Amino acid sequence: MFNISVLNKIKEELSAYKAELVAVTKNHTANDIMSLYLSGQKVFGENRVQELLTKYEQLPQDIEWHFIGHLQSNKVKFIAPFISLIHSVDSEKLLSVIDKEALKNNRIIDCLLQVHIALEETKFGFSLDEVLEFLHFFNAQKYPGVNIRGLMGMATLTSDIDRIKKEFDTLALLFKQIQMETQQKNSGFNILSMGMSSDYKQALQAGSNMVRIGSLLFG
Ligand SMILES: *Cc1c(COP(=O)(O)O)cnc(C)c1O
Repeated sequence: MFNISVLNKIKEELSAYKAELVAVTKNHTANDIMSLYLSGQKVFGENRVQELLTKYEQLPQDIEWHFIGHLQSNKVKFIAPFISLIHSVDSEKLLSVIDKEALKNNRIIDCLLQVHIALEETKFGFSLDEVLEFLHFFNAQKYPGVNIRGLMGMATLTSDIDRIKKEFDTLALLFKQIQMETQQKNSGFNILSMGMSSDYKQALQAGSNMVRIGSLLFG
């Protein structure tokens, strides 16, 4: 079960920053998600395709599903008919597959580019330089089925708050730089997804406008 007082407290904090909550429901049952849905939450995030598909079928159709985990190209086709936002685009190859599958479904799929800001080697994503280079040469007309809406990043799992703040500041700076450079070209580039249960306060202070929170909500 989720904790309603925690949810309300988080919502209040987020509203001060005009930030959106993605309730991360991985490892939680459709029943748990349903009670959260009934409290008014409509935006949910999952990091595994199979789990997402099962829940998509079990739960109300007006839920906005976000994909937040590493996405394999061969699984894009399963989520392309309904996914609202993919946070974890980490290669041009993946983007081109999303584009193709979106067009097959007569959709334009919103995407975020995942940027690697943490110390851990295992986290996926573009490096800071790669994302700049990618966007510099990016030709939106080549991919009419996708809309790059912003950036996503995860900070290092550490108790070193200064380290976390520095990583979020770095990503926020990159986000603002890209926004300035692409202002005329792409006014829809306006989502900065960073912050989880343990570090969302630091993320908000750094400029996040979308947080992905799971364990804090569900206990
Ligand atoms: C699980 C997960 C979250 C949420 O993490 P919590 O610590 O449970 O809030 C956020 N983002 C991604 C990519 C995740 O996989």
